[in-house]
Amino acid sequence: QRQGLFLTDNHPTVTFAELGLREEIQQAIADAGYVHPTPIQAQAIPVVLDGKDVVGIAQTGTGKTAGFTLPMLHRLAAGRARARMPRSLILSPTRELATQISASFETYGKHLNLTMALLIGGVGMGDQEKLLEKGVDVLIATPGRLLDWFDRGKILMTSVEMFVIDEADRMLDMGFIPDVERIFQLMTKRGQTLLFSATMPKEVRRLADKFLNSPVEIEVARPSTRAEKVVDVVVPISAVERRVAVDRLLDIEKISNAIIFCNRKRDVSMVNKFLQRQGRNAQDIHGDLDQSQRQATLDAFKAGKVDYLVATDVAARGLDIVDLPAVINLDVPYHPDDYVHRIGRTGRAGKEGRAFTLADRKSVM
Ligand code: AMP
Repeated sequence: QRQGLFLTDNHPTVTFAELGLREEIQQAIADAGYVHPTPIQAQAIPVVLDGKDVVGIAQTGTGKTAGFTLPMLHRLAAGRARARMPRSLILSPTRELATQISASFETYGKHLNLTMALLIGGVGMGDQEKLLEKGVDVLIATPGRLLDWFDRGKILMTSVEMFVIDEADRMLDMGFIPDVERIFQLMTKRGQTLLFSATMPKEVRRLADKFLNSPVEIEVARPSTRAEKVVDVVVPISAVERRVAVDRLLDIEKISNAIIFCNRKRDVSMVNKFLQRQGRNAQDIHGDLDQSQRQATLDAFKAGKVDYLVATDVAARGLDIVDLPAVINLDVPYHPDDYVHRIGRTGRAGKEGRAFTLADRKSVM
């Protein structure tokens, strides 16, 4: 898995095979080594296959490109292009993104017989012109370049059935919205529109309201980013020694204040009792305590009346503690996102933080 790819939202269990994509596309996905769709893919692919309009709120790193290229390939595989009349159009604010999108079409469309052209600055235009003249299934372009070609009579937009606007918020930042509106108006046969944007400023919302037809709105959380000033330390240890290890770690590393995260509730109370027996000022929070008890403990911790808080992920969610010097993970969290949430408790507001993770020797080696 690539770093930064956000696969854990809803922990999707659906496989690509279950999404109903053509055999040739499934083969290309398998060749790329992907088994599970990302959350945006799992949500967008069935809706796009259904022919519906989509507003997708997702940023790069979520797998959004395959979220639209896969179902587009599936739908386009059924027909043929005519001279100078592209069947689908993907608008990208920058040439870099346009190039990435074309690479994605190449990867996933390699077992299909579809044609593609790329209209961006800097690409040898002669080749692209020949392709366009013959007719392409997929045209990927930046707005200015596309309109330039249109104005010179080299493309007709009337056969575009599927239209994708990628990174609409960046289009807005770059002043392309008027161009995009003009392009919308040229596509008189447009049957399906997909709009992707990392954020939804009101101008982008207005564009969607004006041109999209009852779009299905799909939103995925931002890929997790970690606090910058956190030092991570993995402490290899065998399972039986963990509570002793925590206790020693507090001394050795001179940790006067910390949250100690555990994957399991029973570990929470076990570690808490152990630390208390060592004379430490510790308290625990977990799902079995009622809300008022948890709140009282949190308040005491925040006020500095408790030094060590032993907690499960759920109990600690939304806990806004600024300036916590350290976080200790009794075990490796089940999901990468929990790790990011946990260590997000330290190193806040530009302060240095430390995150210690006790890991079984087996999982460290
Ligand atoms: P994107 O958000 O579209 O820029 O995609 C981010 C990266 O994730 C790309 O490099 C893709 O190759 C990769 N990717 C896309 N879909 C999947 C998937 N289902 N599983 C694993 N990696 C993927």
